[in-house]
Amino acid sequence: MSATPSDIQHVVQPSFPEKEATVSTHSAPDGFFAQFAGNPFFTGGLGLAGFAAILAGAQRGLRQGASLLKRRLLVDVDINVKDDTYQCFLYWMTIHHRRQLSTAVQSKPSEKVGIIESLLRRVPTRMHHLSIATSKTHLPNGAVQTQFALIPGPGRHILRYKNAFILANRVRETKSMGLNNGNPWETITLTTLYSQRHVFEALFLEAHELAQKRVEGKTVVFTPRTASWEKFGEPRRKRTLESVILDEGVKEHIVADVKDFLRSEQWYHDRCIPYRRGYLLHGVPGSGKSSFIQALAGHLDYNIAMVNLSERGLTDDRLNYLITILPQRTFVVLEDVDAAFSGRTMSDESGYRGANVTFAGLLNAIDGITSGEERILFLTTNHVARLDAALVRPGRVDMTIRLGEATRYQAAQLWTRFYGDIDEDSVNQTRFLQALENLGVVQAEGQGPPDPVNMTSTAALQGLFLKNKHSMEGAIAGASELRRS
Ligand code: ADP
Repeated sequence: MSATPSDIQHVVQPSFPEKEATVSTHSAPDGFFAQFAGNPFFTGGLGLAGFAAILAGAQRGLRQGASLLKRRLLVDVDINVKDDTYQCFLYWMTIHHRRQLSTAVQSKPSEKVGIIESLLRRVPTRMHHLSIATSKTHLPNGAVQTQFALIPGPGRHILRYKNAFILANRVRETKSMGLNNGNPWETITLTTLYSQRHVFEALFLEAHELAQKRVEGKTVVFTPRTASWEKFGEPRRKRTLESVILDEGVKEHIVADVKDFLRSEQWYHDRCIPYRRGYLLHGVPGSGKSSFIQALAGHLDYNIAMVNLSERGLTDDRLNYLITILPQRTFVVLEDVDAAFSGRTMSDESGYRGANVTFAGLLNAIDGITSGEERILFLTTNHVARLDAALVRPGRVDMTIRLGEATRYQAAQLWTRFYGDIDEDSVNQTRFLQALENLGVVQAEGQGPPDPVNMTSTAALQGLFLKNKHSMEGAIAGASELRRS
């Protein structure tokens, strides 16, 4: 039996008497909603839901507003680790931070500055996350100097530059690595006000100038790193050509040849000859082969790419590729080139087989068709007789220079460099040279060459002078030590 409207009226009447007319005169759905509308729990929940919806809407609106505002008001610049600017910027940031700290210390309270400037000065560049960068410098005397620098680490840093605030966010990806060097992938995002975006141009210019100044008067040494060249330690102070003492005229001869080569690019191109030149420096250890290459690079404003052919993992393909991507104005130096293949066995027509670069691979890299444009190559060895004729044939090696045992001329020159300002009328120099002649270390005038077993290297001479830097008498008395070296 179904209930009539009057039954319903009857049931609901006691609780909601004022609703009576409504229930009886409205359709069923209206009645349904009316019941809920009258329910305080329901209306309370609805209110809450409504409130939450408004909040969510407002939040979304705020977020959208903020991102719109961000888009309108802020500007971002991303720099990734592969870009040249990356390292420049990190270095700039370190120096900038240091400068700001010293300005903050130096500025006196009495100093007259504008209100805005004085307020800005109170907000220094913030760097709370630092990383350590260690570099090693090889000094000419063989010592290794280690330097540490604190650079901005991963995280957020606030910078103040030309009255603009910049947020620098350095992010290190833990999952992706650079294919070339295995270093983690990194980016730095710089954010500032859109109205101040012009500071970026000035900042990057300054960062590059700073990086340039850092290597001015220095020689950068590169070494292979997987499939790229990487700076080896800090750039070294340029070695002057005067500081390397070779036998009479030798230095001038090589310098003139390299300069002539550098002037002759068009000549080579016109004749379709590969624009490259190879030099082989050989002689006893400590005769100045490496020092001379370094000094020549400094003199011509070149850098050095040093390759150790015995390095594990350096394959023919890698060497070939590396030669094609040499940094500009860079000498390629293959040191102790004999050592790379000694002890290896000749296996087939491709030459000596080894774990790394094969002999054929080396020849390919030196003169293969993939060789890049201008290329100046230096090979050094202490044992020229051990070199394969194929390696030193013209086109691969265009000039062979022997830097042998110290000659009388070199001993005299080196003496002057050390004691020139205290040795009046070169009296002691004459005594020293006489002692060397008597010992058979250097050739006496009018005599034949001395017995090689008595001869010495320029490095040994330098060692003797260093030991007696304030005593010419000590150097003369110590001349006999040279024979043993
Ligand atoms: P090499 O490469 O022939 O073995 P280096 O160039 O490494 O010799 O020299 C070793 C050390 O001896 C260096 O500190 C260098 O300054 C010094 N030396 C060697 N030969 C000379 C030279 N001809 N003139 C000046 N210094 C020299």
